[in-house]
Amino acid sequence: MIPIAKPYLIEDDALAAYHTILSGWITQGPRVQEFEEKFAEYTGAKYAVAVSNCTTALHLSMIVAGIGPGDEVICPSMSYIATANSIKYVGANPVFAEVNEFYNLDPADVEKRINHKTKAILLVHQIGMPADIDAFTDLCSKYNLKLIEDAACAAGSVYKDKRIGSHSELVCFSFHPRKIISTGDGGMITTNREDYYSRLKLLRQHGMSVNDRIRHSSDKVIFEDHIEIGYNYRMTDIQASVGIKQLEKLDWIVDQRRIIAMAYHEGLKDIQSITLPHEEEGYFSNYQSYSIYLKEDFPIYRNELMQKLLEKGIATRRGIMNAHRETAYKLLTRKVKLPRSEDLQDRSILLPLYVPMSPQEIDFIIGTLKGLIESNVIHY
Ligand SMILES: *Cc1c(COP(=O)(O)O)cnc(C)c1O
Repeated sequence: MIPIAKPYLIEDDALAAYHTILSGWITQGPRVQEFEEKFAEYTGAKYAVAVSNCTTALHLSMIVAGIGPGDEVICPSMSYIATANSIKYVGANPVFAEVNEFYNLDPADVEKRINHKTKAILLVHQIGMPADIDAFTDLCSKYNLKLIEDAACAAGSVYKDKRIGSHSELVCFSFHPRKIISTGDGGMITTNREDYYSRLKLLRQHGMSVNDRIRHSSDKVIFEDHIEIGYNYRMTDIQASVGIKQLEKLDWIVDQRRIIAMAYHEGLKDIQSITLPHEEEGYFSNYQSYSIYLKEDFPIYRNELMQKLLEKGIATRRGIMNAHRETAYKLLTRKVKLPRSEDLQDRSILLPLYVPMSPQEIDFIIGTLKGLIESNVIHY
């Protein structure tokens, strides 16, 4: 069976966890600090704050951006549901906007939805393809809004010669195994603002004024204060030690993923009835996923195709979900109409993409897909 994805974890990742466990310091401490410094340096951001996952990263970003009850935040519906949930956590409402052919938020559609309640735009770099950050930065300065980036899938992606993480004030990453590099679970927020950095560090650890690392290394007795109501959203040192090793491999992993994506492109480009992902000038994707879109004249129903591929030993996934179609959002979104987002969910499939993938596996997937299309499994 060829899986849809798997994390690239090798012996040095495991050894890093091993040594951290034996060091006696296993939760947030020196390894978290080191991972943050290295991640900030990698992305080009001034600061990075490690947290338990990208959902908590988004939640804390909403708080420091000052989003609260009654506010509206514009985001895509076509994203993992955590994007919209993070807005609900602070009592605000997600306003779903339409995406473009790149599965990313459409600036023109976003602008139409801005009103006096709008406080922020939460863009998503969907499946690793950067969204048009400049267009959203312009909208935010025009209407005095905050910009938050959900870069869960976008570690190692580049927009206009700068890595994702360095363009705006709050950028949130995920280290879930389905993303580019993994710490089991884990998240990171990058920011250039010192005030955000300080407050994020407070909020992720119960609002505590002095962290454990400083208290333990002090030769004076220190009593901490809890300055505001915070959360326990810490990353552990075990996770961070793996993250440090994963980060060293990130550029190589992205290169490998792009080689696989190019092989798919070469193998599939002659099929008229599908649309392949492509990069515009200035956009560089890490290919967190490889999504193909089945056009109207595609000879097989999408779900039927997925089933046939599964029977041949190839796992696929349907297109990215639409939050407004989920039961949790039914009451809020009865009137929401997002034809393009829904169509992309219904007519796309994600192909397997992980490192390492052998040329034989890639050829087998391309060949099987072509065979199914040519044999016209269903005639109608
Ligand atoms: C995976 C994902 C998340 C959630 O990340 P976690 O680390 O699992 O909390 C949020 N947004 C997007 C776009 C994602 O793909």
